[in-house]
Amino acid sequence: MAAMKLLVLAVACYCAYAIPQKQSKLKTTIFGDEKLEGEIFEKYDVAVAYDEEAALYRLPTTTKPTHYNILWAMDFTTDPQTFAGTVEILLYATQTEVNQIVLQSADLTIGTVTLVQDTTSVPVTYVEEPEYEFLRINLVTGTLAYDATNPVIYTLTITFEAPMRDDMYGIYRSWFRNNYNDEVSWMASTQFQATAARKAFPCYDEPSFKATFDVTIRRPTAYSSWSATRIASTVESTNIPGYQDDIYHRTPIMSTYLLALIVAEYGTLEVTNDNGELIYEVIARPSALSTGQGQYALEVGQELLAEMNNHTDYDFYSVADHIKMTQAAIPDFSAGAMENWGLLTYREAYLLYDPDHTTNNYKQLIAYILSHEIAHMWFGNLVTCDWWDDLWLNEGFARYYQYFLTHWVEDYMGLETRFIIEQMHTALLSDSTANAHPLSSTPGIGSPASVSGMFTTLSYNKGAAVIRMTEHLLGFEVHRTGLRNYLRNKQFETAFPIDLFTALEEVAQAAGALSEYGPDFSLVEYYRSFTYQAGHPILYVQVNHQTGDMTIHQRRFDINNGYLDVNTQWIIPISFSSASDPDFNNTKPTHIIRKAVTVINRGSVGDEWVLFNKQQTGYYRVNYDDYTWDLITAALRGEARTQIHEYNRAQIVNDVFQYARSGIMSYTKALNILSFLEFETDYAPWVAAMTGFTWLRTRLTGTIYLEPLEALIAQWSTAVMADLTYYPSSDSEEFMRSYLRWQLAPIMCQINRDPACRAAAVSQFNALKTSNVEVYPDNRAYVYCNALREGTEEDFYVLRTRFVTHNVYTEKILLLQTLGCTRSADALNVFLTDIFEDNQLIRRQDYTTALNTAAAGNEENTQIFFNFIQNNYELVLQAYPNIATPLSYVSSRLRTEAEVDAFQQWATQNQALLGTSYQVVMNGAESARLSIQWTAGIVNDVNTFLTAGYQPVLTTTQPPPTEAPTPDLEPMPELIQPETPDLPDSAVTSILSMTVLAMAAVFHYVV
Ligand SMILES: [Zn+2]
Repeated sequence: MAAMKLLVLAVACYCAYAIPQKQSKLKTTIFGDEKLEGEIFEKYDVAVAYDEEAALYRLPTTTKPTHYNILWAMDFTTDPQTFAGTVEILLYATQTEVNQIVLQSADLTIGTVTLVQDTTSVPVTYVEEPEYEFLRINLVTGTLAYDATNPVIYTLTITFEAPMRDDMYGIYRSWFRNNYNDEVSWMASTQFQATAARKAFPCYDEPSFKATFDVTIRRPTAYSSWSATRIASTVESTNIPGYQDDIYHRTPIMSTYLLALIVAEYGTLEVTNDNGELIYEVIARPSALSTGQGQYALEVGQELLAEMNNHTDYDFYSVADHIKMTQAAIPDFSAGAMENWGLLTYREAYLLYDPDHTTNNYKQLIAYILSHEIAHMWFGNLVTCDWWDDLWLNEGFARYYQYFLTHWVEDYMGLETRFIIEQMHTALLSDSTANAHPLSSTPGIGSPASVSGMFTTLSYNKGAAVIRMTEHLLGFEVHRTGLRNYLRNKQFETAFPIDLFTALEEVAQAAGALSEYGPDFSLVEYYRSFTYQAGHPILYVQVNHQTGDMTIHQRRFDINNGYLDVNTQWIIPISFSSASDPDFNNTKPTHIIRKAVTVINRGSVGDEWVLFNKQQTGYYRVNYDDYTWDLITAALRGEARTQIHEYNRAQIVNDVFQYARSGIMSYTKALNILSFLEFETDYAPWVAAMTGFTWLRTRLTGTIYLEPLEALIAQWSTAVMADLTYYPSSDSEEFMRSYLRWQLAPIMCQINRDPACRAAAVSQFNALKTSNVEVYPDNRAYVYCNALREGTEEDFYVLRTRFVTHNVYTEKILLLQTLGCTRSADALNVFLTDIFEDNQLIRRQDYTTALNTAAAGNEENTQIFFNFIQNNYELVLQAYPNIATPLSYVSSRLRTEAEVDAFQQWATQNQALLGTSYQVVMNGAESARLSIQWTAGIVNDVNTFLTAGYQPVLTTTQPPPTEAPTPDLEPMPELIQPETPDLPDSAVTSILSMTVLAMAAVFHYVV
C-alpha cells in the first residue's frame, strides 16, 4: 500500500521530539525483558505507523453529521456469525461548493447508498478507498445546498454487512460456557476505540464529529441486547420469525468511538429509580451472577458514580433523558475495559468479584478500573480530546481518578500511596528516553496504527502525574473548581489542552492561588512546559550548608546516559523539607524555578539533611551533592527516618536505583543509601525497592554476583518479613499489610533464602489438596507457585484441573500466572500445548499472562520453552503468526554470550522458516548480549558493596565545617545557557512548530 512506504520506525522518527542537536547514543540500559508485551518499554522500538502524511487519513470538515439512525441485525446461525445493517446519517454542508461526502468505513460490504434532501432524491455514486478506510460519496451533479444560519439537512442512507470479527475490534464474536461443562454460547460485543466504529457501520469516525444516535438491534428472541440508553420498546421483527427488534432511546451528543452494543444470553443485576426505570446494572454470564460475583461492582460502582457526580457537580444522568449505566463483563476483551457511554465493558476478571476466591489485588483492580471508566463519563465522553494526539486529556484524568476517586470511596486500599509507585515512578521511567513522546500534539498521528500508538504509559501515567502536580500547585478546591468550569465550558464538545489550562488559570487567579508564585508565573506556560515538551527534569541540588544557599541545576533526565544533550527547561514547582523544618504535609510549592541554574535559600544554616519534592507531588527527580546525600543517608538510618515522609523514602529508593542504572551514581553509593531498608517496614519504600532489585537481579542472573545480591535482599528484608510473616494474621487483616505480603512473599520464595517461605507454601497447598482447605486468596500466588516448585507433576494436574473447572475468572487468571512454576518438563509441555492449541481453554487475551509464567516460572523453563517452539513450530505459528513474539520470551532471558550465540545460530539456520521475523529475532538476542555486556561493566561496582557492606557516612553537625564541602559535580556536557522555555502563544501555533520540527527529522530518516 502506498501509505506504508511512508512508515518509519518509531525509534528513528520519535527522535524528532528530542529536537535534533547533538544526540548522545552512548549506551542503552533498556533490554529485551522490558520490551515484552505489557512491560514498560513495550512500544520502545516497535515499528508504528508514524508518517508525515498523517493528514491524508483525516476526514475533511466540509460536511458534518448531526444524527444517526442505525439498525444492526445479528445472525448467530452462520459460521462465522454475521451482522447486517442500515445507517441513516443526517448531515449538512459546512461551506459552499461541496460535491462529495467523505466517511470512514472498513471491512464492510456496502450495499446501497442513497442521498435525500427533504423528499428529493439526490443522485450519488460511491467509491471505497481501503488504504485510508474512506467511503467517498460523490454527487452525480451539482453541490450540496449550503445555508450558514439554517443548515440544510440531507439524509444519507447506506446498507452494509460483514462477518462478526475475531480480533476483538468492531463488532466481534465471543463465547462462554455458563458452567465449565456446558455447551459454548456465542455472543456479540464491540470495541470501537480508537478507530473501529468504522468496522461496524460507515460513519464519521473521528472524535470531533459528535452527533446523537438512535439505535435498533435485531436479535434472536432468546438473546438480550444492550446499548448506551434504555430500551424504548421491543417489537417482533417484521417478516423474520424468531427475531425481535430492541429500539433504543436517543443517546447524548457523542463521538462514534463511545458507542457500543452487546447481544448475549446474559444475566443482569438491575437497579431502578422511583419510576421503575433502569438506572444501573451489572451484566454477565448467568452462572457468574447467580454465585454473587456481580455484587461488589453493583455496590461500589454506584458509590463511585455518586462521588464523581459530587466531585464534578455535574449529574451523570443529566446528559440524556434515558441514559443508564451498564457494567458489562465480557469473556474476550483485548482492551481490558472501555468507557462506552452508558455501556461500560470489562474483562470478567476486572469486574466480577468473589470474596472466597478473589485476591485483594483483583478486588482493588475492579474498584480502580470501575473508577477509571466512570471518570471517563466526564473526561473523555462529555468532553473529548479533539484529536488523539492529545489523548492525555481523556486518559490522564481517567488514570488520576482511577486512584483518587477510588481512594475517596475505598480509602483502605492505599491508593494515594500506591500512586507514587505505580504511576509516578513508572511515568518517570518511561519518560526518560530520547524517544519519549510529549503528552500534547505528538506529531504524525493520523493512521489507525499511529493513533493506537498514542495509548502509551506516558498518555496515562504521566498525564495523571502532571495533573496531580497541578492539583498540589493550585490546591484541591481551586483545582476542582477549574475542572468543573472546564467540563461546563466544553460539554458535548471536544477540547484542546489550552481549554483546560485557561479554565484552571482563570479560577486560580480569581482565588489568589497563584499570587505567591510571583508576577511572572503563568499557569498556562507552566502546564505547557510539562505537556508540549517530552521528558522530565532531574534537579541537581548543591547545598552550601554554611549559608543555606542551594544551587539547583535542571536537566532532562535520560535512563541510558544520565542526561540528554538538549536544552529543555521546565517551569518547576519546588517544595522541600529539612531536619530543622521536617514538614512534609504542606505540599504547596514555595518556589518556582524556570532557568537551567537557580539559587534558592533553605532558610537554615548548618549541616542538615534537606529533601526536595514533598510527597513527590512534583513530576521530577532530584539528585544532591555527595555531602548532602551523606546527611540524608544518616537521617534515613537513624531516628529521623520516620520524620521523612513514606512517599519521599520511596522516591529516594526509586531515584537512586535509576541513577545507578543511568551511570550518574555508583552502585556502591546507591546501595549505601538504600541500606536504610534493613530498618524499613513500610509499604512504599519496600515496593519501590523490590522493583529496583528485580531489575538488578535480572541483569545479574547468570553471574556469580546474583547469589550475594539475593543474600543482601534477604538480609535487608528480615525486619519487614518478620513483621509481615507468611500468613495473614487474621481474615480482617489490614488491606495494605496483606497487599505488601502479596508482593514480597513471591520474591522471598523465589530467592529461597528463608526456608519458612516455601515451607509455608507447601503446608497451605497440602491442606488444599488433602483436606480441601482453601488457601487464603491473597496467599494463593506464592503458595500455588512454590508448591509446584517443591511438588510433583501430579500437583501440576491438581491446579490445571482447578483452572479448567473454576467458575471465578480471577482465580483462573491467578492459576495461569502460576502453572509455569512446575519443575516437571512434561507438565510444562502440557501447559505450553494448552496455550498454543486452539482448544477454547486459554483465551487469546490471556496468552501474555500464560506465556510469561511458562517462560519465566523457573530459570530452566526458558530452554524447555525454546525446545517446545522448535518442536511445535507450526502449532506456535498458528497462535502467533508473528513468531518473533513467543521467541522474544526466550531471547530476553538468554544469560550468557554462549546462549546468545547458540540462539542466533539456530535463527540463522532457520532464516527461511523465520521469514520476515528473522531480523527481529536476531535483534532480540543482540539485546540480550548488550545486557550481558552492560552488566559486565557494573559488577565490580556492585560487588564492592556486596563485599564490604554499608560504609558509615561522615557527617557532623557541630561545629559546622569552616568551608562548605565541594561536591563532586558529575561531569555534564556543555550546554548553552537557556532562558525560560520559549513556548508558543497558542496551542495551534504549537502544533505547527512541533510538526515542522518533526518533518525535518522524518525526512532525514526516510532516505
Ligand atoms: Zn481510559
